[in-house]
Amino acid sequence: MSKKIQSALISVYYKDGLEPLVRILHQNDVKLYSTGGTQTFIENLGIPVTPAEELTGYPSIFGGRVKTLHPAIMGGILYRRDDAGDVAQAEQYNIPSIDMVVVDLYPFEETVASGASEEEIIEKIDIGGISLIRATAKNFKDTFIVSSRSQYADVVSLLASKEAATDLDDRRTYAGKAFAVSSQYDGAINSFFLDRQDAELYGFTGLPAQTLRYGENPHQKATYYGDLEAMFVKLHGKELSYNNLVDVDACVSLIDEFVGTAPTYAIIKHTNACGIATAATAKEAYDNALACDPVSAFGGVVITNAKVDLATAEELNKLFMEILIAPAYDTDALELLKSKKNRILLKRNPEQLPGVMFKTLLNGVLLQDKDLVTETAEGFTTVTTKAPTQAEVTALEFALKVCKHTKSNTIVLAKENQLIASGTGQTSRVDALRQAIDKAKAFGFDLNGAVMASDAFFPFPDCVEIAHQAGVTAVVQPGGSIRDKESIAYCDAHGLAMVTTGVRHFKH
Ligand code: 5GP
Repeated sequence: MSKKIQSALISVYYKDGLEPLVRILHQNDVKLYSTGGTQTFIENLGIPVTPAEELTGYPSIFGGRVKTLHPAIMGGILYRRDDAGDVAQAEQYNIPSIDMVVVDLYPFEETVASGASEEEIIEKIDIGGISLIRATAKNFKDTFIVSSRSQYADVVSLLASKEAATDLDDRRTYAGKAFAVSSQYDGAINSFFLDRQDAELYGFTGLPAQTLRYGENPHQKATYYGDLEAMFVKLHGKELSYNNLVDVDACVSLIDEFVGTAPTYAIIKHTNACGIATAATAKEAYDNALACDPVSAFGGVVITNAKVDLATAEELNKLFMEILIAPAYDTDALELLKSKKNRILLKRNPEQLPGVMFKTLLNGVLLQDKDLVTETAEGFTTVTTKAPTQAEVTALEFALKVCKHTKSNTIVLAKENQLIASGTGQTSRVDALRQAIDKAKAFGFDLNGAVMASDAFFPFPDCVEIAHQAGVTAVVQPGGSIRDKESIAYCDAHGLAMVTTGVRHFKH
């Protein structure tokens, strides 16, 4: 049944986009009721409006907790217009008919996401607004509910075409939308309480909590507990996702191997470096890092230990990357990089990172020290007749740093200060080596004179054989296999240099 709207109560948190809706109601002689801030907004448009207080006889009380929760308002919405008893009661208690309600709820999720205190978050649980929505939606036979500012534009078109009347179908459709809004709203509140329970369970209650859009996949909910702002200044771009945070963490751990070195750029995909290089200039370092695997670099997270200059920014700007992290940016470089709306640009603060890490498994938690041991040439023991050349030593040190931050099993192939290719997270070291060789060839690298680093010892001599055939001339590995002698004998017979470190770097 088509019904002309005679009266509407408007109570919205965000006032933007409201004006056309108020105007169309006013043009169609709809009597307007409203609450504090919304009332002021409507009055400022020069449109007459009756304050909710006039209906309830109460001002907004308890800091806004009670504004519209009153029989004059809830009754005005809920009484059945085709029920003689209800109509008589409405008259008896002087309850006016409220035919339409427009609500935009307190921004609960936004407040949680802002890292606000629990007290502030609780105050942003809308009580009256949600009651208005549910009441109006329940009585859709008689009343029309607009439950979110995202609906204003459609409602304006609807009312304009029908001179502020609605059909039963319209009212039922918007009632359905309203219960979707209230369900989502209460769902978010429920999640907040569950997250708090998780936080207590895992002992995170002292840390600021930031609800992420979702976890590793869209069907997984997730929260970040910690102080990101202490670590980074976000200069540009969208919110960091769960996967972004994981990659940023991998980036930071890797680049911290290059403190005080010449400019270094690393490109990370799924926590592994798909390119990394150190060079005399930042641009050269970036170019060399990208050259390692320009295919994987697409959508990667990039980190550098150098200030981002314009020359490098011009190259970086050509890459579709999720995030760039740097200690500093030149103004012109920053302006250029900001040209992509979603690209996240982070400036890293010199914040100390905790020296431990943990993960949950089974019904408990594993806590361990971070792998902060990095071997340099002083820690190398040459086990072959031939010692590595100075250039090979530099390349071996570089390869080891990358190896340590790559998923096991891994083999890293490098030349002086440039990753050539790595095999990542394979189930055997031979697979990792083959993957690395194939990648290096695919991107046009000549492996003659390249070096190889392994995260753990070689159980058989097969890896050194395959590496030698590909052109590798020097190898670093922890050593300690009962068959080390076989690998060493192969190296001696074929003129390779091998050094051992005695330190394994599994990363599972
Ligand atoms: P205003 O800016 O008009 O003062 O307030 C509008 C907001 O108040 C809307 O978000 C609406 O959902 C909310 N609201 C309306 N009535 C009540 C109430 O009785 N209690 C609470 N907590 N919120 C209300």
